[in-house]
Formats: sequence, structure tokens, C-alpha cells
Amino acid sequence: MKQPARDKFLVFGSPALGEAEIEEVVQSLRSGWLGTGPKVARFERDFAAYKGIAENRVAAVNSCTAALHVSLIAAGIGPGDEVITTPMTFAATVNAIIHSGATPILADINPITMNIDPAQIEARISDKTRAILPVHMAGRPCDMDAIMRIARQHNLLVIEDCAHAIETEYRGQKVGTFGDFGCFSFYVTKNVVTGEGGMIVARKEEDIARAKVLALHGMSKDAWRRFSDEGYKHYYVVECGFKYNMMDIQAAIGIHQLASVEENWQRRRVIWQTYQQAFAELPVTRPAEVEANTRHAYHLYTLLIDETRCGVSRDQFLDAMTAHKIGVGVHYLSIPEHPYYQERFGWRPEEYPHAMRVGRQTVSLPLSPKLSNGDVEDVVTAVINILSR
Ligand SMILES: *Cc1c(COP(=O)(O)O)cnc(C)c1O
Repeated sequence: MKQPARDKFLVFGSPALGEAEIEEVVQSLRSGWLGTGPKVARFERDFAAYKGIAENRVAAVNSCTAALHVSLIAAGIGPGDEVITTPMTFAATVNAIIHSGATPILADINPITMNIDPAQIEARISDKTRAILPVHMAGRPCDMDAIMRIARQHNLLVIEDCAHAIETEYRGQKVGTFGDFGCFSFYVTKNVVTGEGGMIVARKEEDIARAKVLALHGMSKDAWRRFSDEGYKHYYVVECGFKYNMMDIQAAIGIHQLASVEENWQRRRVIWQTYQQAFAELPVTRPAEVEANTRHAYHLYTLLIDETRCGVSRDQFLDAMTAHKIGVGVHYLSIPEHPYYQERFGWRPEEYPHAMRVGRQTVSLPLSPKLSNGDVEDVVTAVINILSR
């Protein structure tokens, strides 16, 4: 390398936060109401409006992991049950299934879309299967027609992991509203950010009511109001729940992030398309084009680095990008690559060959809406420089 593509390190997944977010947080701090309160309620209303559903069908929590865990329990899933999910996901998806007491079962991906393959789901169904947990990888919707048809035929619940997919649509319908539950993440690198945070969407109002109780110690409905100006209200613990509630400080950020969700999506789409064109001639596999009648959330832009075609391994490519002062990510090594799951479930990466190959070749380039045109050019320059040796 003659010279790095830039001087200052470009942090991967750095969020675009504006003055409105900062002022709203300061106002929360000045008000003294830091915990769950009116701002969380407003963020829930705004999120429901964005999804086009009634406000009693959403519940804010403190992570997507919490959203998945609570959804599984509210769905009545537990020990003895099997839940089918994808090996191409973040550990949280599988961990939430394990924490519910159920057994995760993996179904390999379609290598083009990188989403769970419906035919593989069908091949893994047993008489213990209770639910399918698809992940809309990188923001590309799963084949929801096929998944919902399988679920109906086999009487299975569907819990969608929408951590990448706030803006995603499939045939005109927003994801998270197909299944019994949809779970969203507002982690720092995600499309809408609250620092840590998550949202549950449920088809049934009573499932959200149960999820809200589970997310706050199992205390009876709206226990957070007990210190409000309506006067002290007794609460009763009706089951053994968790401490998963979102704070007003988090919602303060989320309210303004959500107001910018479409603007930020537009910007990421432009960057995604710029990369797509810039890398057309390189010996890499680019993301598949967006399928007709769907909306991609453009959460990740990933290249597959095949050492035999590129002359560099994926890990050498990661190091070379870092040397060019560009932050990159890996989403993800397939789940069976991790020792815990190998030991506990006996999984081997080779049993899920598509997820294994993608996981060993994939690299995510910066795609934050905060990137300037100059930043995007630096990324393009670095990638071309590394791969045209
Ligand atoms: C980020 C992520 C999660 C977990 O979200 P948190 O809000 O960090 O708990 C779950 N699934 C996928 C696919 C993710 O990318």
C-alpha cells in the first residue's frame, strides 16, 4: 500500500445524531424523569404510526434481545419446544431461544438472498417444532409468503427478527407485521438508534399486554405510572418477569431518530447504490439486487471475498481496510462456528454450507447516513486499491 485512503479513521456504524436528539435528552435530564415514562409512551405511539398499526400492538423494551426473549415467552414457547431459525444471524437470536428454554434448530440460508431458505425450514420440522424465527438479513425481506404458508400448514408461530429491517417491506407490507411477533433493535449501529433499545410488535393486543408485564418484573399493567401525578397506585406481581423496560432518556433519542428514518434510508440507499456500481468490475460477489415488490432497508452493504478469485483472504481484506483507516464489520460468522453452540448442540459449520461460506467470506462496508460523499469515495478507493492488485 502506497498511502492510506484517508488520514482519520472512519468508524464503522457510527450513528447520525442531530441537535433535536441532544436537546430532547437534555430536557429529560432537566425534568428528572429518566426512567420509563411519557417519552417511551410517545415513542411507542410514533413507532406504531410508522408501522401503520394500533398503538396497543407495540411495546418498547431495552434491546431486541429482550424483545425476542419476551416474545418467545409470551408466545408460550419453552422447554421441550423447538424453534427453527437461521445460522446467518447475530448470537442474540439463538441465545434468546435458549433463554426461553426451547431448543434452537438451524435451517440453512439461500446463498443469494442470505435469508433462511423455506425448503430448509420444511426439512427441519419435527413434532416438537413450535415456531419459525426468520431474520431479515441486512434489511432484505425473507420470503414471507413461503414462510407464512409453512407456518399455517404446520400450525407454527412466527417471530420475526427485524433488527436490520425497520424500513423493510415485502409485497407492500411492513415486516414485523407478518408474524405473531416482530422484534426491532435500536442498538447504536442499527437504522434507528437509542443507544440500547428494542421494540416488540404483536399481532394480538393481549400478547403485547403480556409482553409489557413480562418486561417489567411481571408487575400488573402500567406499574410505571405508580409515581406519577395521578397519585400512588398499588401494583401486583402476577408472574416472574424481567427488567427489560426502556428509559425515557432512550426514547428521547428514538423519537427524533424515528422522525429521520426515511431521510436516513434515502441516504443509505444512495450509498448502497454507489457501492453497487463502483464494484461492478471487481472479482467480488456484490449483494443481489433488490427483489421486485420489496423494499430493502439497506442496513448492511456486504461483499463476499473469495480468496481464489480476489487473491486476498477475507481476513487479509479486513486488515487492509483497517490500514486504509476504514472501519469494517463481519455480519456474521455462521452460528455453528462458535464453540459454545458446537459443544452444546453438536453443530458443525459444514452442516450449513451456504451460511458457512458466506460467514467466512463476508465483509460489511460503512453505510451510516452520516457518511459524506468524500467518506464514500474513500471507501471505494480503498476497496478498489486492495482488490486490483
Ligand atoms: C443487533 C441484533 C440483535 C440484537 O439486538 P440488541 O438490540 O443489540 O439486543 C438481534 N438480531 C440481529 C439480527 C441483530 O443484528
